Amino acid sequence: MNESAQVICPPALDVGKIRADFPILQRTVHGKPLVYFDTGASAQRPRQVIETIDDFYRNHNANIHRGVHTLSQEATDLYEQARLKTAGFINAPSAEEIVFTRGTTESINLVAHSFVRPRLQPGDEILISWMEHHSNIVPWQMLCEETGAVLKVVPMNQRGELEMGALVDMLSARVKLLGVVHVSNALGTINPIADICTLAKQHGIPVLVDGAQAMPHQRVDVQALGCDFYCFSGHKMYGPTGIGALWGKAEHLQAMTPYQGGGEMIRHVTFEKSTFNEAPGKFEAGTPNIAGAIGMGAAVDYLQKLGMENVAAWEAQLLAYGTEKLSQIEGFRMIGTAAQKAGVMSFVLGDIHANDVGTIIDLHGVAIRTGHHCAMPVVQFFGLPATARASLGIYNTFEEIDILAEALEKTVGMFD
Ligand code: PMP
Repeated sequence: MNESAQVICPPALDVGKIRADFPILQRTVHGKPLVYFDTGASAQRPRQVIETIDDFYRNHNANIHRGVHTLSQEATDLYEQARLKTAGFINAPSAEEIVFTRGTTESINLVAHSFVRPRLQPGDEILISWMEHHSNIVPWQMLCEETGAVLKVVPMNQRGELEMGALVDMLSARVKLLGVVHVSNALGTINPIADICTLAKQHGIPVLVDGAQAMPHQRVDVQALGCDFYCFSGHKMYGPTGIGALWGKAEHLQAMTPYQGGGEMIRHVTFEKSTFNEAPGKFEAGTPNIAGAIGMGAAVDYLQKLGMENVAAWEAQLLAYGTEKLSQIEGFRMIGTAAQKAGVMSFVLGDIHANDVGTIIDLHGVAIRTGHHCAMPVVQFFGLPATARASLGIYNTFEEIDILAEALEKTVGMFD
């Protein structure tokens, strides 16, 4: 670590201890210690999550809800405990408001089909922001094509902040849903969700929040935010892939009709008619990802123990240090300089293509993401084909940022 890093306050987290929890950080890549700066795409898993899943399969595995035998009851208890933990983590008023899904993408699609579609008339509007991930663009586009509704986009400024004045002007009774990302994966911008919800409420507009990138980095309180739906993925928050959740206000979930039918979600079936379970069961058709949900519960426990305020504080220090350090590199330009920003450093390095940057620094053991980050309109906005993105997690250190900077400097040197 250089001198400027040493004036930064000591971390509230014991990062050495955290690192020891992540077995993958012991491995090398191209003979160098792995330096993982791709948590935004998918976080690594601590042994507590891995061991919980392992224990489930070794000792408790069975299908849930239907069985009277001991294993089925144990599996059901573990699955429902994970729902409770998840609800507590986001301060949901009730565990019944947590629907397990495959992740953020499926959560958004569920709301699109079960909540928004039945309310849409031709000429109605769906409002999203310019910095959305494709998962909060494409489902709405598909729905608009089908129904004759119109997709409207709230602009952003050159720093990658939402134009709040434009947002206010775009709110009207025609808008049937406002979908907005909490933390942008491509820019790191933290959007003022509570303010946005207050504004939307004045027009009776329900708000869906894509919380995929917020969940692992800051405390999320859905009641304080005032939103109607909150979507997230287990694998971004140190849990397994193939699992995530939709939180929705009870009144909405109760009124919504499921868009997938099958086992588990029914109360009574005849050939003439079927009746559905209450929420959340009616949205969880078929055998769910039982081990995944339990694993996500373990990830919630892990993060709760660290304290999300501590996580946010640590990542803010890393971001400040990284921003300063990388800015000294010839040709470095940060894409996304919002005043409120989470641990994402999206950048370009002179004329060097981002894919070349990513490939070269991989040889130094450094993993970053390159491309459009599933947010093509964002890179188009900045007139770029792609950016390189270093995204931060709880296990990253100042020393790793130094390694990243050194690898980037060597990359620049190769193109001089
Ligand atoms: N929204 C944001 C902001 C994301 O970063 C991602 C994942 N990159 C998603 C949505 C989609 O998440 P998933 O692929 O887990 O459904």
